[in-house]
Amino acid sequence: MLICGLQKLTLLDYPEKMACTVFTGGCNFRCPFCHNASLVLQPGRDGVIPEQEVFDLLEKRRGVLDGVCVTGGEPLLQPDLAAFLEKIHQMGFLVKLDTNGASPEALAALLEAGLADYVAMDLKSSRETYGKVIGVPGYDPAPVEKSVALLLRGGVPYEFRTTAVRGLHTKADFAAMADWIAGAEHYYLQGFVDSGELIGSGLAAFSADEMRELLGIVRAKVPSAALRGVE
Ligand code: SF4
Repeated sequence: MLICGLQKLTLLDYPEKMACTVFTGGCNFRCPFCHNASLVLQPGRDGVIPEQEVFDLLEKRRGVLDGVCVTGGEPLLQPDLAAFLEKIHQMGFLVKLDTNGASPEALAALLEAGLADYVAMDLKSSRETYGKVIGVPGYDPAPVEKSVALLLRGGVPYEFRTTAVRGLHTKADFAAMADWIAGAEHYYLQGFVDSGELIGSGLAAFSADEMRELLGIVRAKVPSAALRGVE
């Protein structure tokens, strides 16, 4: 596992759980709005964290933490992810996995093995604009379609989420995404925030009123949709 960051406590990342967050290095997407640019472009630049440090933290926080969020970068690119998650489970902690959905076979294998208790998958845009929005021109979203279908089958609690970015997304993209995941259990529209460490530049957030308008569009097909991080 290439672990590039460890947040020892989060009350926000794992719904209704106290957790720590492990950040893995490397990603196959180049989303201009990615707020973890160094994790994607220069994984390990700021040092790497041995797996044992995570296990030592869990040992110390028994009875305090419920689970571990594994995020990135893109965790499913890590070849030894299954073994890492298995060890977390053996220690008695839950696992929440964040993914960009580009590795459906790896995701299916983890779910089959029962190694994720909650999955949060990014839905970046409509099929037509996927490549532009993820910074990989010409990208064929077929793998993302497979991951969406896998989660919609409902074998594990999940959420889809989209970071809405002015200049990248249109209202039509949101209508198309809502069609794509119609009836999903949980779908969150997140406001874009400039972390100061983005992959791209010249990006802006939609206003709160615009976000509410986008929410109205997606709720026509995904009634459970909600805003996240929008006042
Ligand atoms: S936001 Fe995009 S580039 Fe950044 S980690 Fe997620 S999928 Fe990769």
